[in-house]
Amino acid sequence: GVTEGVPALPFPQPTEVQEIRHTKIFIDNEWHTSCRGRTFPTFNPATGVKLCEVEEADKEDVDKAVEAARAARQRGSVWRRMDASSRGRLLHKLADLMERDRLLLATLETLDTGKPFLQSFYIDLDGSIKTLRYYAGWADKIHGKSLPVGECVSTNVCFSPALSCGNTVVVKPAEQTPLTALHVGSLIKEAGFPPGVVNIVPGFGPTAGAAIANHMDIDKVAFTGSTEVGQLIKEAAAKSNLKRVTLELGGKNPCIVFADCDLQLAVEETQKGAFYNQGQCCTAASRVFVEESIYEEFVRRSIENAKKIVVGDPLDPQTTQGPQIDRQQFNKIMDLIESGKKEGAKLEYGGEAVGEKSLFIQPTIFSEVKDHMRIAKEEIFGPVQCIFSFKSQQEAIERANSSQYGLVSAVFTRSMDRALSVSAALETGTVWINCYNALHAQTPFGGYKMSGNGRELGEYALAEYSEVKAVTIKLSETI
Ligand code: NAD
Repeated sequence: GVTEGVPALPFPQPTEVQEIRHTKIFIDNEWHTSCRGRTFPTFNPATGVKLCEVEEADKEDVDKAVEAARAARQRGSVWRRMDASSRGRLLHKLADLMERDRLLLATLETLDTGKPFLQSFYIDLDGSIKTLRYYAGWADKIHGKSLPVGECVSTNVCFSPALSCGNTVVVKPAEQTPLTALHVGSLIKEAGFPPGVVNIVPGFGPTAGAAIANHMDIDKVAFTGSTEVGQLIKEAAAKSNLKRVTLELGGKNPCIVFADCDLQLAVEETQKGAFYNQGQCCTAASRVFVEESIYEEFVRRSIENAKKIVVGDPLDPQTTQGPQIDRQQFNKIMDLIESGKKEGAKLEYGGEAVGEKSLFIQPTIFSEVKDHMRIAKEEIFGPVQCIFSFKSQQEAIERANSSQYGLVSAVFTRSMDRALSVSAALETGTVWINCYNALHAQTPFGGYKMSGNGRELGEYALAEYSEVKAVTIKLSETI
């Protein structure tokens, strides 16, 4: 499923990366060293080899970036005076440059994250480029009721709607994976964005991240990450300047597989959902509820399907599963796998680390999972599929909804009537019917409950990056 839409050979091939060019802090279209003179290493998780040192942003650097972003949108600035169609053209230009550098960007992403190369190339890059073009199109169609506002902070792709609305941004990428964001910095400059419109501050959460969340001069934060950190961000926003906050947080996403479904499709899609990006996905399909009468066959076929997964060097286009991002995540996943075994779930497949020292984990399937087990409740963020059985539709809906999370869900059935009534009952921001991970720039994405606040993507995201201003005019004469 992961290589869906991928043409037959020859596959695109990773680029030879001799030297990583962009490793500094990007402010005002220039590269800066850190104010405190510090750097941090970034590693290739597939080999453990250090890729390079990156300049580490802290509070002072964040202040500089915010100052640049403020200046770039002050009244009379180039960005502020630029007409909306030109803003759209700049976003298109950036998309063109990302297309030009697509092989290099996909290679950098794979080197830095361990994600299989074809997934980086066909899914991440494709999604980022399409998102830029989608919001490029919106730039000159936002009118009538909205007015651009100040700075905001956001992750990689999410800066498209912010720029489309005429904001300026400070981006803090995750500390484990700063490299593609920094390369995009160089493309921002090449595309011709005025200095200060996009600034990139690689660094850590409690320092650079907290400086952003607490900043008095930032109007909006868009955060993607864990629910725990999401709570800290909202608290910091409340205690500083009440900046707007949107949160894209964790999930424990249910799939409901009814006996009348296309069974093979359900097996493949739910497993794609569980194992995509080594399970390191907010959308990971981590709770698969299967109707009793097809349960055994579903488990059998899931095991067969998992045998096709190729774990290995993520730069090899044949690989479908790479390493986990770092040792801490790896340990957390192995601990949860152990808890599943101890609490009595049935380990059907995998369940072990691959090799002694590496960060690779076998694709793992548990059946007979019960709702009270840790693997049924906690976000695993690893390649672990948990299969449950259910008897009635009502029961499946209730169990699917009994979670603090509410990000995505999926329903597999041939009955559209059932699909629609079940999707109406599911408390998640997205419901996929007979498919999984179907994400598009046009479709709003976000969570119910502790999976987040607000929506990214689609027309809905524009509202998160604009303020409504009511200007009321009293006419001197009424006709
Ligand atoms: P994380 O919360 O550990 O880190 C995310 C970001 O927060 C990093 O950039 C980090 O530096 C920063 N951060 C950490 N502490 C901070 C602090 N005190 N103040 C400010 N910033 C701080 O999450 P992660 O491990 O990078 O990602 C995994 C989590 O993200 C999972 O829970 C996953 O479900 C979620 N996620 C959600 C979505 C979504 O769209 N809903 C998408 C991807 C990931």
